Amino acid sequence: MKNLFKNTEFIFGLTSYKNLPADKGSEVLLAGRSNAGKSSALNALTDNPKLARISKTPGRTTEINFFKVNEDLMLLDLPGYGFAKSSKAKKKDWGPLLGEYFQKRRALAVVVIFMDIRHPLKESDWEMIHLCRNYNVPFIPALTKRDKLSNNNITKAISFVKGKIPESNPIAVSSKDKAGFDKLSKEILNSV
Ligand code: GDP
Repeated sequence: MKNLFKNTEFIFGLTSYKNLPADKGSEVLLAGRSNAGKSSALNALTDNPKLARISKTPGRTTEINFFKVNEDLMLLDLPGYGFAKSSKAKKKDWGPLLGEYFQKRRALAVVVIFMDIRHPLKESDWEMIHLCRNYNVPFIPALTKRDKLSNNNITKAISFVKGKIPESNPIAVSSKDKAGFDKLSKEILNSV
């Protein structure tokens, strides 16, 4: 299958929602706790091992990074929640504005919530799910690091998450094994 994310490129990082570009096309928000495996997943999804390095550059970790997939589609990489290293003031800046973004942004098509398959649905994940539900934004739980579990336990983890958020279609991925990304791509493209 052709990877439609293959030519994804970094465009810019924003520290404030005030500077958002024009509200057009579709935006896919990539969210997750720090260390969930979001950067590795972005690299695997786009088949570009260097792409997400930009998000890990010191000083960029509190930015929303914009990655252009094509003229009509952007991936927005949110700072990992629980980014305790950033100042409280900066952290505060995101909360209310994220709500405003969800409320106003027409381009927002879907949120991918990356969660370690061994520790899904932590409090901060629920905050993101509630935000999605409140504003009727579809979301995809992406359960990362599936290589850490047996097939049996992968199935169990998927059912567990599905049981808690029945409207979702959780997808297990492994950046290490490059597994599950065809499915995740399809699910994202179905939502935009
Ligand atoms: P982020 O903070 O959410 O961007 O997470 P990273 O992508 O930086 O990954 C956090 C840690 O998990 C790193 O040590 C990665 O090597 C590891 N990791 C990420 N994805 C996988 C995976 O699919 N399998 C395994 N075994 N480890 C992973």
